[in-house]
Amino acid sequence: MEEICSLCEGSGLRIVEEGGRQVARACECRVARRAARMLEQAQIPRRYEECTLENFEPKYDGADRSLQSALVQARGFVKGYPVETDGKGLLLVGPVGVGKTHIAVGILKELVQERGAHGLFYDYRELLKEVQNSYNQKVAATELEVLRPVFEAEVLVLDELGAAKPSDWVWDTVAHILNSRYNDRRTTIITTNFQNFEEITKTELRNLTDIQKAAREETLGDRIGERMRSRLQEMCVAVEMYGEDYRQLKKRASFAIGPKGASATPALRSAAEALRSAAEALQSAAEEDIPSISKAIQDAAPEGFIAQRPRIDECVAAPEPEQEKPLVGRARMGRWASPCPKRLNEND
Ligand SMILES: [Zn+2]
Repeated sequence: MEEICSLCEGSGLRIVEEGGRQVARACECRVARRAARMLEQAQIPRRYEECTLENFEPKYDGADRSLQSALVQARGFVKGYPVETDGKGLLLVGPVGVGKTHIAVGILKELVQERGAHGLFYDYRELLKEVQNSYNQKVAATELEVLRPVFEAEVLVLDELGAAKPSDWVWDTVAHILNSRYNDRRTTIITTNFQNFEEITKTELRNLTDIQKAAREETLGDRIGERMRSRLQEMCVAVEMYGEDYRQLKKRASFAIGPKGASATPALRSAAEALRSAAEALQSAAEEDIPSISKAIQDAAPEGFIAQRPRIDECVAAPEPEQEKPLVGRARMGRWASPCPKRLNEND
């Protein structure tokens, strides 16, 4: 049994004095019930239920400053909603585990609870399934009526855009949803693990070596097409987030081998690790100076390989230059993608 509110004794209304007159106003319990109901309708998954902007932790060991600035942007967004934001949403971009969904849910909850916005949370893969299921074989068309809440939600959080690659017709429907929302000035908040770079062109792809192709990470443009990616830049403000995986990112940057966010795959990284321990083993064998072994090594190793004591992580170890503000957008992404000069020279 729910406890009866002591303020209104369950009526949901309170009589208050306003300008010398007694008027009936909604009691806090009623407002709270309504907020709870709307929050339920937003369908935030249980694992994110507790996420708020309040309990987002932007400062921990190894945290990047971009997390703090993402939080500031999120708060500003809530504050400016809906007049200043004017239908524009946010595109939260960053690797797994930096709290993109946490921020998105935090915003959604505040807009629902404090602004009375009708909100809806959707995992991208769930949306694709929903679209798939909306297909009616009898009429050979998608029944958009089923998807009405996604079209009409005042604020939609679309989590993990690009996480799956749908078939053409499913994608066309998703594009239609996003475009309609944009045209209707409805707010869409998107998270994605893919870097906010353009789609690689066929010519560029042809010019990559097989190793470069294997090492290249897909971009958001690759995943959703350049047309939609550039549409998203119009309908959302991009917010870059980096975090606990940041060190890993720096490491990857040192193996990056080309434009557009190319960086090392796990396979390449472990190959590099193996190479390093091999180099170390060779080095210590050479230092022991057993003539037959030394000779064999010298004959087999590329010139200068032993003497220089190559350390692959030299590329990584360079300290990050001091900077006032975290680099964002292309400036920052560009650094991920820039090849290590040492490796370039080695390949000459
Ligand atoms: Zn009450």
